[in-house]
Amino acid sequence: MMPNEAPSEAVVEVQVSALLSGHDLTPFELLPDTADEYQATCRRCGRTVWVRGNSLVYSLLGDADCPGTPATYDSEP
Ligand SMILES: [Zn+2]
Repeated sequence: MMPNEAPSEAVVEVQVSALLSGHDLTPFELLPDTADEYQATCRRCGRTVWVRGNSLVYSLLGDADCPGTPATYDSEP
């Protein structure tokens, strides 16, 4: 139960994978009230990815490439 200051292998894997899919992730941030749970958000599509410790990853980025700006940003009448 040691605080992990360096990015874990899982975080690096997620970052690389997201980049290859066209996502633009924010830096991983430690979630409040947790010791080893980090979350990042894609600046383009707004989806999130969550990592715990060195291996557990829960990604909402999906398998496909980044869809880009959410449709809600569309101001067409
Ligand atoms: Zn994205």
